[in-house]
Amino acid sequence: MPRKKFVAGNWKMHGSRAENAALIEAIIGTVTDDRVSCVICPPFVYLHDAWRLLRSSAVALGAQDVCAEAIGAYTGEVSAAMLQDVGCRYTLVGHSERRSMYGDTNALVARKFVAAQSRALIPILCVGEQLAEREAGHTQEVVGAQLDAVLQLSGVHSLGGAVLAYEPVWAIGTGKTATTQQAQDAHAFIRSLLVKIFGEAVAKKVRIQYGGSVKPNNAKELMSQPDVDGALVGGASPIGGPAGVSARLPASAHDANATNQMSRIAVEYLTA
Ligand code: PEP
Repeated sequence: MPRKKFVAGNWKMHGSRAENAALIEAIIGTVTDDRVSCVICPPFVYLHDAWRLLRSSAVALGAQDVCAEAIGAYTGEVSAAMLQDVGCRYTLVGHSERRSMYGDTNALVARKFVAAQSRALIPILCVGEQLAEREAGHTQEVVGAQLDAVLQLSGVHSLGGAVLAYEPVWAIGTGKTATTQQAQDAHAFIRSLLVKIFGEAVAKKVRIQYGGSVKPNNAKELMSQPDVDGALVGGASPIGGPAGVSARLPASAHDANATNQMSRIAVEYLTA
C-alpha cells in the first residue's frame, strides 16, 4: 500500500487569533482530499483555538515542541498531556531552531520523543545536518546519530509510530532548497537505516517528510521522489492567509501566486 502523503505547516512564532482563524478557514476550505494528511502547528497559546476551528475538518493539530518532563516545576514548559488535552495529535521534536537556539541536544530530543509517545502524540522527529557537516561529508553520520539517540532511549519499535522529517539545516528559512537528488539520497539513507532496524515491511510504512524552503513551485518535484513522503513547511505555511501574516515573513518565503501555500503544496503533492 502506498504511503499516505503528509504535509505539515510549522507556523513558528507568527499569527494572532484573528489571523489564524482566517488562515485555518483558507486551509480547511482547500484541503478536503483525504489522500493527503495535513497538520498545522501554531504557537502553543493558539492551539486550543485552532483545534476548535479544525476539529471537524480533515486537518489535524500539532505543537511545535513538547517538554520532556511529565509534570512539575518547569516554568514556561508545556507537557505532552497538556498538548493532548487541547486537541493535539502531533508534535514536532528536534526542530533545528530548537536544537540550535534552545539547547535541544540529541539526548533531550530523545526524551521529548518518549514524552510525546507516552501521551499518544505522534512525534514528527526532525533530523538534518548543518552546511559544514554536509560539506565535510558527514551528513549520514549526523543524521544517523540523531536517529540513534531516539532509538537508544525509546526502543526499536518507537520509530514505527512516528513521522520523520529530514530537514537540512542549511535549507531552513534560507530559500535554498536541497536538490531533488540530495533530498532523495538522504531519505533513501534514512529508510535504509529503518530497513536494518525494523525490516523492509515496517520501514516501507514510515513516512519521511522533507523540510527546507518548500514552496508550491518546488513541492511537486521534491514530492515525486520515491522516498519523499511529504513536506514540513515553515516560512511558507502561513502565507496566503491574512495580509498581516504574509507581510511579516521574509521575502524569500513569498510566492507571486500565493493563495494559501501550505494548501497549495498539499494539492501539488496529490498530482505529483
Ligand atoms: C521549518 O521550519 O521546519 C522549515 C522547513 O522552514 P522553511 O520552510 O521556512 O525553510
